[in-house]
Amino acid sequence: LALTACSGGGRGGAGDTDATGAAEAGFAADATIGVSLPWLGTQNWKEAEEFFTEELSSAGFTPLVQAADNKVPQQQQQIEAMIEQGAKVIVVGPVDGTQLGTVLETAHDAGVTIIGYDRLIENTDAVDAVVQFGSFRTGELQGQSLLDGLAERKGDGPYNIELFGGGPADPNAPAFFEGAMSILQPKIDDGTLTVVSGQTEFTQVATQDWDNAKAQSRMDSLLSGFYSDKQIDGVLSPNDGIARAILTASEQAGQELPVVSGLDAENESVVSIWEGKQYATVAKPTDQLVAKTVELIKSLQSGDGLPAADETADNGRKDVDVYLLDPVVVTKANVKEVFANDPSRLDLLK
Ligand code: BGC
Repeated sequence: LALTACSGGGRGGAGDTDATGAAEAGFAADATIGVSLPWLGTQNWKEAEEFFTEELSSAGFTPLVQAADNKVPQQQQQIEAMIEQGAKVIVVGPVDGTQLGTVLETAHDAGVTIIGYDRLIENTDAVDAVVQFGSFRTGELQGQSLLDGLAERKGDGPYNIELFGGGPADPNAPAFFEGAMSILQPKIDDGTLTVVSGQTEFTQVATQDWDNAKAQSRMDSLLSGFYSDKQIDGVLSPNDGIARAILTASEQAGQELPVVSGLDAENESVVSIWEGKQYATVAKPTDQLVAKTVELIKSLQSGDGLPAADETADNGRKDVDVYLLDPVVVTKANVKEVFANDPSRLDLLK
């Protein structure tokens, strides 16, 4: 991964910083800051809504935080309204990574800085930075935790497994899957893992809209179609809601619980891990992601522009500066340690 020094100007796109360095001029300390979230269907996005509102307010800004119910036109309208209300920065977790080009170009033309939050914004020049936990890295941790759990709980292989992916419009979902498959594919190739259904392509395993109910019904079909006379040992799950749906379907089918990976360290999954059901999750703490984003906004406000990024990501149109945080695998063995400073999650571990 390339360590890329940024221009130092807040704005990346060609022609958006004039000779006088307009993009580095900063803006009012109480400026309106837009935050456009994709939906509130998982705990991380609800936390983001809450933390952005709190953190931006306490930094003196005027926050305008909205969520789009997984609908692209709704998100486009919300962003348009933020532009009209004079937002200086708009933070965007896109419903669909590829569908915001037009509205973000309008924002850029109006001098707004665009920061992608958690998800990459694709196929447009009108994005200045992305703040996220590396998505490929997150997937690697998911794949590795599945392998570790199989060895720990299911004796010697070979193991029967199935694969699940997230919502196909979300650029994170294929990246998580690719990261996980970089770990799992060699074990499929050497016979340690058998995907009994044969469904190993992202398009076959994706879960439309990250909808837990859809994942549960796919799991029901897999179990009745392929496992009536077999044990399923493990399942790659892209997040915690889907992990719990997979566990519920397995329980209902009378299977010994498979080893299941996850993501987000949602409260319900932290409890499930503590009770020995879900094997692992990957924590990507929302407070850290929001704090990093607000730090960038403060830097823009003061006129310092954006600091040097950690790496760049090709979004199909440009190399976008990425500010990276570190995701962490959580299992029963380390859960107390990982959340030692998070009383809200520690309280769940009785
Ligand atoms: C986020 C996950 C979340 C998923 C579904 C992804 O883009 O990275 O934290 O579980 O969306 O909301």
